[in-house]
Amino acid sequence: MMKNRPEVLTFGCRLNSVESETMQRHAEEAGLEDVVIVNTCAVTAEAERQVGQAIRKLKRENPSVKVMVTGCSAQIDPKKYEAMAEVDGVIPNDRKLDPKSFEAITGRRNSHFSDKTAVPMLSPVDGAMQRAFVQIQNGCDNRCTFCVIPFGRGASRSVSFERVVDEVRQRVDEGFQEIVLTGVDLASYGRDLPGEPTLGFLTGRVLTSVPDLKRLRLSSLDPAGLDEDLWELLGDEPRFMPHWHLSLQSGDDRILTRMKRRHTRDQVFRLVDRARTVRPDMVFGADIITGFPTETDAMFENTQDLVRRCGITWLHVFPYSARKGTPAARMPQVPVPVRKERATKLRALADEAARRYHESLIGKTFEVLVEKNGIGCTRHFAKIKLRGPWRVGALMQARCVAIEKEGAVAEVVTS
Ligand code: SF4
Repeated sequence: MMKNRPEVLTFGCRLNSVESETMQRHAEEAGLEDVVIVNTCAVTAEAERQVGQAIRKLKRENPSVKVMVTGCSAQIDPKKYEAMAEVDGVIPNDRKLDPKSFEAITGRRNSHFSDKTAVPMLSPVDGAMQRAFVQIQNGCDNRCTFCVIPFGRGASRSVSFERVVDEVRQRVDEGFQEIVLTGVDLASYGRDLPGEPTLGFLTGRVLTSVPDLKRLRLSSLDPAGLDEDLWELLGDEPRFMPHWHLSLQSGDDRILTRMKRRHTRDQVFRLVDRARTVRPDMVFGADIITGFPTETDAMFENTQDLVRRCGITWLHVFPYSARKGTPAARMPQVPVPVRKERATKLRALADEAARRYHESLIGKTFEVLVEKNGIGCTRHFAKIKLRGPWRVGALMQARCVAIEKEGAVAEVVTS
């Protein structure tokens, strides 16, 4: 009977998709066949429900396939998956990038899961988007009251900047124009390394050590953790993208306190003002949770007010989802319909902000990184539909000629 190559089913965040590519490679190198690795997510109850549903469907449709489960949800509650008849094994999250874990599945090596310290270097490529993600950090030392990630990914640990620079250089040599430095809590980068190099120091070192690198972007940032080196770079280094995605979560100080976040409303206003002073064309994205326990209409209004006044352009909105064992789950809950209603309101605000931003591009010429399907990504992270002779993976100039329902349209002006 025909044997199938291994597959990885990915749920959750960018980091999970980045890691899934490495697992796919290790599984193939270990010669696995008829094996599916499910890389789980624990960020919401809904995410975990979808994982369980997918595993049952997978086994129902492919009874002979071996199902291995890993990821944050499997790390936080391995017994839950071990108890599922459909599951053949659980790989702890901190061992999922170790080739030995896949050899163990073939029975060629005993599975052993020990040290939590190692941060494997990985930087898979997002083929569709033509940029390479370089992981610089994993885990988290914070304890936001709604979050289970620290229990899934362990304490914060950083990759040495020498290894990061080597990896970035290799990716640029492979032809990538844009690199995204990624991790769980970028702001804590370096605290566990000798001399405690900051995120700003690392970013600067990457840019000076790899002069051929055209674009450097950061993934999600904690507003409370932006160091002075980073601010200096923002003002001086054109290859450092004028786009920051902030992990804001709320715009109300009482809710931020109850979330155990490390920033206030005023700090966000000051951050945005400072960024636009050193880099006037700065564009922001943000993550916001709606309906966090005890959030009143007035508190939600503070969040909407902050989004408007900061001119957040790319907004990711998440209705609060109680996670078992977290302090927030024990607080007085906001009814689910109210959480969702507020999310709808905030998404409408987000759509309006994005539409205004796209309209501001009309007649302008700008640089795009061409992604698959003729989509160009600007330095400010706008996704532009391209017309004309575009080339995937190339940096090209394009002029905005129209606005459609999905966004801006631009003619390629450089071949
Ligand atoms: S900073 Fe907070 S929200 Fe982010 S991973 Fe750590 S605990 Fe979770």
